[in-house]
Amino acid sequence: MPEPMLQITGLNAHYRDFQALYGVGMQVHAGEVLAIIGANGAGKTTLMRSISGLLPNGAGQISYKGQDISTLRADQIAALGIALVPEGRQLFRSLSVEENLIIGGQIGRKGPWNLASVFKLFPILEERRAVPATSLSGGQQQMVAIGRALMANPEMILFDEISLGLAPIIIKDIYAALPGIIGEGMSALIVEQDISKALAVSSRVYCLQEGRVSLEGASRTVSRSDISRAYFGVE
Ligand code: ATP
Repeated sequence: MPEPMLQITGLNAHYRDFQALYGVGMQVHAGEVLAIIGANGAGKTTLMRSISGLLPNGAGQISYKGQDISTLRADQIAALGIALVPEGRQLFRSLSVEENLIIGGQIGRKGPWNLASVFKLFPILEERRAVPATSLSGGQQQMVAIGRALMANPEMILFDEISLGLAPIIIKDIYAALPGIIGEGMSALIVEQDISKALAVSSRVYCLQEGRVSLEGASRTVSRSDISRAYFGVE
């Protein structure tokens, strides 16, 4: 096995005196799509934010392509090629669709993604390029958030709650776009509430329970009862 692209070891995270992650370990190899599942409050968003440099570093190590990134700032981590599509999208409310996308590209990484290729992926965004991003539907806003992350030409993309709150038809569109988003050699972590979807798109799955990894396995072979146990701590 080659070196993992991302290697997390013994990661803890805190919000003041509340501990949200306990000794989390995880590996992601180049080209892998990983699903992260777990009940509300299990720590999925905290993990995404820790990787992206959005939480002050707790104990533990996060290494990306052999480099320790656990003490780097979010902008430094983005410049190395890790992009986050955050929960709740967090678009710039006063800016247009196009301006939101351009902000994602300001990190200056070279690659296949630019305004033209994002508009090709999500044509509705080109039609609506000049309107404030927040006047779009939830699904279209999610497309902007994905496009903004892609504009940074990442090698690893983290999707936090990719389909939360979206209509089923939009979720279908977003999942249909995923193969075009996760390019050759690129890795992805997908936080998803819908377990069947999470398993269908990923090669491996991690389940978090109360801040700890409660299951790690191949998505095709992991059993429903393993998942129930890992998710809720019961059969
Ligand atoms: P959800 O699906 O609800 O988003 P999650 O698995 O993403 O859940 P996190 O958002 O990472 O979970 O939260 C993990 C724990 O940390 C929860 O108990 C939550 O209440 C707590 N937590 C999250 N953000 C904060 C914060 N800013 N301040 C204090 N506690 C927080």
